[in-house]
Amino acid sequence: MSVYPVPRHPDGRAPIISDSYGYSPKRGRLHAGSDMMYRRKVCGGASLPTRSKCYEMPRGTPALAFGAGVVLRSERIGTGDLVTIDHGGGLHSEYFHMRNRSVRVGQRVLAGEPVGTISYNPIGYQLSHLHFQIRKNGTRVDPAPYVAGAQVVDKPSSMIAKFMVTALFAWGAYHLLD
Ligand SMILES: [Zn+2]
Repeated sequence: MSVYPVPRHPDGRAPIISDSYGYSPKRGRLHAGSDMMYRRKVCGGASLPTRSKCYEMPRGTPALAFGAGVVLRSERIGTGDLVTIDHGGGLHSEYFHMRNRSVRVGQRVLAGEPVGTISYNPIGYQLSHLHFQIRKNGTRVDPAPYVAGAQVVDKPSSMIAKFMVTALFAWGAYHLLD
C-alpha cells in the first residue's frame, strides 16, 4: 500500500503534480522530482507570480510518508527541511522544501504518517510546494508512476493520520514488519 505524499485539501480538492519530472529548459537541467500542489478553483490573479495564479499550497499542510520505511535523513538544507525514507529493496522517497520535520533518523514510519510540514518559502522561491523524489538504487526516477495508484488521504488532520497509523501498525505488525 502507498499513500499520496500530500493529503486532500480540507475543501476536498485532490493534490496534483504541478511540475513533473524531466529536463527543464527553464532550469537548464533535470527536474528530478514531482512538484505537488493544489489547483486553484479559478486560475487568475494579476498580482500573483506566474505559478501562483493556478496553484496553491496552504501553510501547514503535512507531507505524508509515501510508504512504510525507516528515516534515512532528516535535516535542514539550503532549500528547506528534507526527509529521506528508506523503503527497502533499493527504494527511497525524499521530501523537500518543508518548513519543519516531525521524524528523526532511524525512526520507523508507516504509510501516511506525517514527516513534516510543507510551506518553505525562501527568497527566490515563487510558491511553496512539496518537491517529491523517488530514488531507485540511488538513481532519481520519475515519481509519477509510483504515486499513480496511491491512496489520497481525506484530510490533513493529525487525528486522522494518527488513526491511520494506529490501524496500519496493527495490520503491519502482522503483515509488513517481518
Ligand atoms: Zn521540484
